Amino acid sequence: MNPTPLRIAIIGAGPGGLTCARVLQRHGVAVTVFDHEASADARPQGGTLDLHLTTGQAALRAAGLHDEFTALARPEGQETRLLDHTATVLFRHTPAPDDNARPEIDRGELRRLLLSSLAPGSVYWGHYLRTLHPLGDGRHHAEFDDGHTETFDLVIGADGAWSRVRPMLSDADPHYSGVTFVEFGFDAADTRHPEIAGLVGDGSMMASAPNRALIVQRNAHGHLRGYAAFRGSQDWALEAGVRMADTEAVRAVLLEGFAGWDERLLALLRENDGGFANRPLFALPVPHTWTHTPGLTLLGDAAHLMTPFSGMGANLAMLDGSELAEALAGADDPDAAVRAYEEVMLPRSAQAAEGAARGLANAIAPDAPQGSLRHLRRMAGQEGP
Ligand SMILES: Cc1cc2nc3c(=O)[nH]c(=O)nc-3n(C[C@H](O)[C@H](O)[C@H](O)COP(=O)(O)OP(=O)(O)OC[C@H]3O[C@@H](n4cnc5c(N)ncnc54)[C@H](O)[C@@H]3O)c2cc1C
Repeated sequence: MNPTPLRIAIIGAGPGGLTCARVLQRHGVAVTVFDHEASADARPQGGTLDLHLTTGQAALRAAGLHDEFTALARPEGQETRLLDHTATVLFRHTPAPDDNARPEIDRGELRRLLLSSLAPGSVYWGHYLRTLHPLGDGRHHAEFDDGHTETFDLVIGADGAWSRVRPMLSDADPHYSGVTFVEFGFDAADTRHPEIAGLVGDGSMMASAPNRALIVQRNAHGHLRGYAAFRGSQDWALEAGVRMADTEAVRAVLLEGFAGWDERLLALLRENDGGFANRPLFALPVPHTWTHTPGLTLLGDAAHLMTPFSGMGANLAMLDGSELAEALAGADDPDAAVRAYEEVMLPRSAQAAEGAARGLANAIAPDAPQGSLRHLRRMAGQEGP
């Protein structure tokens, strides 16, 4: 038993950090979360996440929030469609009504659910971690951009792709994967764009051809979020002489890149609501690992950033968060608990990151859509390994 409670900081109020905070508090362990966003609603949280039974959903069970998740989740969002560039449907999976393997939830709803489960005042918004100074005894002195400073016994870096905690543990930097997503969206698609909504269906639709794809996911409230995905330079807009803020110029460049595709698919680029966002995909080297260091650890993207082609990023972040919290909650020796967490988490995430790298190589590929078709058929048990 520790005579004095540990002072624990979680840097980052993403799915991983918030899950960790919730599970710690559920076990009566005090924790403070710091996030650089100005408030919980300062920025739209982005698209939809499918939470898997044994990872994201298991974490929500540990957090005591699985029933609330089920009430918000969209099991019908597990529908999957693969098309080619002529809009011919090559593969379609419609989930059974009781299929709860991977229901979808909007990131914003998940964040609200986790935040509302925390003790009031647990999250310090507008706190960007600038530096950590090791004090030599396992404690670290944290400096935030707004001038706040504080000393902690354990700092958990849940601060995502560009973590400020990670450089204290590892020299690894995320590298560009060679594939960029350009994001677009449709509000109220069912009423404003019924043909597009019908093409996408209830879940995810990917249309692909060599080295490029159009990927669209249905979010809650009839919103569709899509990505024009392609292999090439992450600075494609600069090289084409367009600014991302110039919606019509970006649209024209994208339409040129997808020339020859069926008009029903090009409508995704022509008719969206505008406001394109450039999202080059980055990943950490695989495996990413570090020498255990008392007083510091990482979870989620900070530890194992991978491209979304594993479908595991948020799921693993939440599982990391819940497992680390449970290990700490039951521990007489917190440092041994962190070490034990890292020994399980690092090989598990390396395996998922290898899967993400293979998934990306298969999906945005010279022979697309064949790799994705093989993968989906294998997943559906329609083909041998
Ligand atoms: C296009 C796209 C689609 C995806 N789709 C899926 C999917 O379907 N399923 C899935 O499982 N995953 C998906 N992912 C991956 C998923 O989004 C991430 O893996 C997940 O968000 C990681 O969670 P996290 O808590 O580790 O970090 P994040 O969600 O990145 O949260 C990090 C938090 O830390 C804060 N922060 C950052 N730096 C600092 C700092 N220095 N000081 C204080 N706060 C800081 C940020 O404001 C943020 O709130 C997708 C990713 C992309 C790019």
